[in-house]
Amino acid sequence: MLQTITHYFLHFIFIGAIAYWYDKTNWKKYWLILLATMLVDLDHLLVTPIFSPGRCSIRFHYLHSEYAIPFYFLGAMFIKHKIIRLVMIGLAFHMITDFIDCVWMYSKCEECSAKEAFEGLW
Ligand SMILES: [Zn+2]
Repeated sequence: MLQTITHYFLHFIFIGAIAYWYDKTNWKKYWLILLATMLVDLDHLLVTPIFSPGRCSIRFHYLHSEYAIPFYFLGAMFIKHKIIRLVMIGLAFHMITDFIDCVWMYSKCEECSAKEAFEGLW
């Protein structure tokens, strides 16, 4: 329960704080842009089943892969265009949020598929 609350808090509420940090004047508009970065989860539609409890998104879905994630972080650091940079920040933070969820799952379950997210990393 705490895991679920934390996950959705980070995905929907905490990004409001990021938007406020990013631009105190236009933070509501930027919050909406950050909310729109949730569309990255559309890659879940490409697999069957679409939702599986205990499955870690990181390294499983295309837009959550180890090939895509570095682009989000590099974009967040180096892209100068304010809106595109914010989108990259949103995507990078989305991956951090999903990763926290994976670590949390992994800590509770040795056999669930969250374990796959960490295979080969250490
Ligand atoms: Zn995700």
